[in-house]
Amino acid sequence: MTAQFSFQRLANCSQTKARVGIFSTPHGIVETPRFMPVGTLANVKTITPSQLEETGAQMVLCNTYHLHLQPGEAIVAGGGGLHKFMGWKGPILTDSGGFQVFSLSEMRKISEEGVTFRSPHDGQIINLTPERSIEIQNTLGADVIMAFDECPPYPATRQEVEAATQRTYRWLKRCISAHQRQDQALFGIVQGGVYLDLRSQAALALAELDLPGYAIGGVSVGEPPELISHVVKATAPLLPPEKPRYLMGVGTYREIAIAIASGVDLFDCVIPTRWARHGTAMVQGERWNLKNAKFREDFTPIDNTCPCYACRNFSRAYISHLVRAQEILAYTLLSIHNITELIRFTQKIREAILNDTFAIDFASWLEQGAEDLGLENGD
Ligand SMILES: [Zn+2]
Repeated sequence: MTAQFSFQRLANCSQTKARVGIFSTPHGIVETPRFMPVGTLANVKTITPSQLEETGAQMVLCNTYHLHLQPGEAIVAGGGGLHKFMGWKGPILTDSGGFQVFSLSEMRKISEEGVTFRSPHDGQIINLTPERSIEIQNTLGADVIMAFDECPPYPATRQEVEAATQRTYRWLKRCISAHQRQDQALFGIVQGGVYLDLRSQAALALAELDLPGYAIGGVSVGEPPELISHVVKATAPLLPPEKPRYLMGVGTYREIAIAIASGVDLFDCVIPTRWARHGTAMVQGERWNLKNAKFREDFTPIDNTCPCYACRNFSRAYISHLVRAQEILAYTLLSIHNITELIRFTQKIREAILNDTFAIDFASWLEQGAEDLGLENGD
């Protein structure tokens, strides 16, 4: 790890593999475990950076694929780099674009060199290679950047997943060679689909490269939640304990709790903001549809234990009214609440690990349940 990054472990759970740490970056610290809100296009939808800061967010994720297409990394760099351009002073992570290229783009062609696809904006042919992804991320200027990987879909044959996993490793080596900035930490990504032996081979191979951090990718791509847990439980402990571990694109309360118990430190997911835009509040593990008639004359806060701006100042009835009227403020208030709620969930777990009561206090979250599917809005 370069001098500008460090990961300090403060406590380990005696019953699970959960740990508490501090990840230091050039733009500040991240107290782990912690949820990271997603700001796809250099903004967390409907909320301002100061509102975001008040949710307890420390590190924010932005998407390389989307920013490359719009407005383009040159404009972000012209605006002083990602932090200055979007007005966020804290740590930022950019993904490599791999996941979006493989899941969103049409007419893609994969070769050993990289991926060619058509821009959904203007139909232009775009070539994304490991070198190009790193160059774009070096230009955007986030604190943590991700290796360009091949993310196979679910389901995929073992042969397909094995080929993608091996290619991801070769691409990682090219990413390491291409990476130019000491003030950015390049994380490697473990692929391997739902094949645990491929996951473990990939994790051990990556660990030897002594990277500043490691991610588990290619989960939450359509597989059932119990498979996500299997993969995370088997993979996370194989990654170097002295480095931060990031589970990409996960998830719900239960998935996060299980991943923390497996030794994962960082999470990102669009659920809190996406659900907010559907009029849904996340409340202590439940999902509430604010359009429900029972909220129309309910003048209590969404959650009276929640310290967020929405819960301090507004009633369920008011937010229900805004949702019904499709007022943008509804999405702002629900985004503020939902992000605060999920970050608070990871903060409560952090406290419990420090007190060594995590396994007891969160026992109900650590069992794999069928009720927590939570992905029907299509991630
Ligand atoms: Zn709240």
